[in-house]
Amino acid sequence: MSSLPASLVDELSALLGDGWLTGASERAAHGNDNSRRSALPDAVAVPSTREQVVAIVRACRAHRVPIVARGAGTSSTGAVLPTAGGVVVSFDRMNRILDIRAGDRCVVVEPGVLNGDLQRALAPHGLFWPPDPASAELCTVGGNLACNAGGPHTVKYGATRDNVLGLSAVTGSGELIRCGSATTKDATGYDLTHLIVGSEGTLALIVEATLKLAPLPPQRASLRALYLDVASAAAAVSRIMAQPVTPAMLEFMDAACIRLARDVGGADIPDAGALLMIEADGDAATLPHAVAVLAHAARGAGLLSLDTAPDEIASEKLWAARKALSPALRSIAPGKINEDVVVPVTRIPDLVDGIQALAREFDLRIVAFGHAGNGNLHANILFDPDDTSQDARAQAALPRLFALTLALGGTLSGEHGIGLAKRDFMVHAFDPATLAAMRAVKAAFDPDGVLNPGKVLP
Ligand SMILES: Cc1cc2nc3c(=O)[nH]c(=O)nc-3n(C[C@H](O)[C@H](O)[C@H](O)COP(=O)(O)OP(=O)(O)OC[C@H]3O[C@@H](n4cnc5c(N)ncnc54)[C@H](O)[C@@H]3O)c2cc1C
Repeated sequence: MSSLPASLVDELSALLGDGWLTGASERAAHGNDNSRRSALPDAVAVPSTREQVVAIVRACRAHRVPIVARGAGTSSTGAVLPTAGGVVVSFDRMNRILDIRAGDRCVVVEPGVLNGDLQRALAPHGLFWPPDPASAELCTVGGNLACNAGGPHTVKYGATRDNVLGLSAVTGSGELIRCGSATTKDATGYDLTHLIVGSEGTLALIVEATLKLAPLPPQRASLRALYLDVASAAAAVSRIMAQPVTPAMLEFMDAACIRLARDVGGADIPDAGALLMIEADGDAATLPHAVAVLAHAARGAGLLSLDTAPDEIASEKLWAARKALSPALRSIAPGKINEDVVVPVTRIPDLVDGIQALAREFDLRIVAFGHAGNGNLHANILFDPDDTSQDARAQAALPRLFALTLALGGTLSGEHGIGLAKRDFMVHAFDPATLAAMRAVKAAFDPDGVLNPGKVLP
């Protein structure tokens, strides 16, 4: 049974018609995410226009009813769960690509468009939007903006925050604000655009975005480098990042991941202490030079082998090991805590050593792989949730992983965000004065705390 005030239900059902959902199965379908937690909303609102979003927020605010924006519900941190009940606002019907402006290298979209659909619409114009989460075919641009999503191309092209020019959004006061512009230079006032990006629906509901685009590189080539140990691979990462040719991707796998990709995933790859996958992009005139420079930087003490893939098909073969990894992880452990910690690139060896020490101390399998060029590693704690001892050890290892990351000068999340999962660790990442400044920002945008309560801030 809905516990919403009757007058609110009357107002929103009249406003939204068949976009007002209160059935048990509809509420359940909007109460889960990739964190495997769940929480039921009292109702689901599916607006078609920004005016409807304004009306929903004003009506809910008047009754102090929580509002949780929802894209595709692929959040890995519980960010999208309506843990305090209230109304989930689904952006399913606000999914139009409004204006592709190739000459301005930007596109104007509604928040519900899927990342993958956007890329397909942009490709005929020779353009792409750089954020490339592995979930691109499932997740929305609104969710990408709210979580500051990223992926392998972030090392060269930046994450979501680096690829957005402007937003229209509805604050927790029910005001429609417009920030940024369709220009790549802007020195006008406070930068609210980049404050809202990464705020996980706690400051405002994004109803339109102007996204910065990049030209699609005509060609790509890949290198696969195997190293004796993590220190040699990390030294190569530092050499690669210190020279002028920026790799389009620079991915890392530790020894345990290499074994898993081969033994469980079927990848054709020998044992090694660490692996780097390096991609260059460019055109026929520039690509051979880029590959040669990156290969030179990859060579050094501890290199066991360096394979070059001159074309897309050969590249796919080299990337097979990386792609085999996720399914391989799934098949060996029913439970997985997948964290996306970040450290300065030069601290990668300390992070991997520390993770291996935690694995020994807690008697668990913990593997590390990910976006080495950004120092952003996915540390996966593998366990069986039905084994109470393993479950307890996995939960105990998690705060130690965060403490290790922070001690190395790193940060809690590179791309998944904070949500519920990491909220209580924010007190370790920021001092009280910084957290107080964040709370003051929250209060300015959302004075009654109706937007996504209980997320991000402890
Ligand atoms: C298989 C898989 C692989 C993944 N790989 C990656 C990866 O490589 N990189 C990465 O960064 N993430 C990854 N993720 C996590 C997830 O896909 C991203 O965080 C994505 O950006 C979430 O988009 P969504 O549309 O599903 O948002 P949701 O999960 O619906 O929402 C996420 C957050 O955004 C808020 N939100 C959604 N829409 C709006 C809006 N219009 N206005 C304001 N707030 C809004 C929600 O309230 C919530 O706080 C992966 C997830 C899965 C399931």
